[in-house]
Amino acid sequence: MTGITRVIYGQNASDISLLGGFISFVGDAKEIFEFPNTQAVFEKLVEESKVNLKLNHLVTHVKLNIELTEEQLNDNINILENQPLSIIDSSSSTLYSIKSINSLTKAESTEEYDAVIIATPLEFSSIHIDGYSPYKREYRKVYVTYCHGEINHTRFGLNENSLSGVLTTDKAKLWNSIGVRHKFEDNSSIIKLFSINPVPEDELDRIFIKRYSTYVHFWEDGSYPLLKPGLPIPPLILKPNLFYINSFESFISVLEGSVVTSKNVIRILQRNWKQEQCTLSSINSKTKSFLY
Ligand SMILES: Cc1cc2nc3c(=O)[nH]c(=O)nc-3n(C[C@H](O)[C@H](O)[C@H](O)COP(=O)(O)OP(=O)(O)OC[C@H]3O[C@@H](n4cnc5c(N)ncnc54)[C@H](O)[C@@H]3O)c2cc1C
Repeated sequence: MTGITRVIYGQNASDISLLGGFISFVGDAKEIFEFPNTQAVFEKLVEESKVNLKLNHLVTHVKLNIELTEEQLNDNINILENQPLSIIDSSSSTLYSIKSINSLTKAESTEEYDAVIIATPLEFSSIHIDGYSPYKREYRKVYVTYCHGEINHTRFGLNENSLSGVLTTDKAKLWNSIGVRHKFEDNSSIIKLFSINPVPEDELDRIFIKRYSTYVHFWEDGSYPLLKPGLPIPPLILKPNLFYINSFESFISVLEGSVVTSKNVIRILQRNWKQEQCTLSSINSKTKSFLY
């Protein structure tokens, strides 16, 4: 099991939750398939939702336009159910103002929203949220090394071009896994290595008889939150109608998690907005749908 958890999360089975281990096996399933033009899926989703997509905008500040009591702040789940909220910034009729910078023109702008959904790890995003300090989660830093060359099969106890991948146990220190991504007719292959430290050059020289090119990618901020059971998970609801989808990454780091969490957020918003006494959005809302 550790073999696959080291591929998928760069963490040993003994260090991650049962769910993390279970999800790791999904990554090894035979049924995994690829869409030929994945980007088209997202383009179509944006088009259908009629949102105003603001690419190249860096969000810098999420400002709450209402005053909350200590009790309301601590009750971030039921806050909108029975308690009317009053807007303190008279220039605004919405709960939130979002400040952003156009990274191309450097122009700053502020827009108003009834609800805000954050889908990025806050500890690396430099978004300031009034009255909220992001949890500093611990992350597993992962290196991915792609090499093109002729594999030294004897290094793996094989005498022909039959290597398709190598899993390791927690005893292996130099790399976590090898996957052969492509085999060329000239006997060369492209392989992908996962490791938690840079793979030493002399180790790569032992893996390859001839190495033509090497590319290393490193997630400097960290790639996956540590999935050790018992570590704190940031809240999904930070403030009234302010949601943090990426918090789910600490529970299980997987794209489907973002999908499920997004759906839950929409359900919560629908419920909140159905309740007349707290429907701030119905009072002269200036809000349009934007997506950063
Ligand atoms: C090596 C690796 C392999 C993985 N493989 C898989 C896999 O096979 N399947 C799977 O389901 N999951 C996989 N994951 C996990 C998956 O990548 C995460 O679950 C997912 O990326 C989390 O999505 P997110 O939107 O919360 O954050 P991100 O994907 O990190 O997206 C955040 C976005 O917000 C932007 N941003 C940051 N700050 C700001 C700001 N101030 N203003 C505006 N925008 C900002 C960033 O530029 C970025 O585009 C993998 C992760 C890693 C590291």
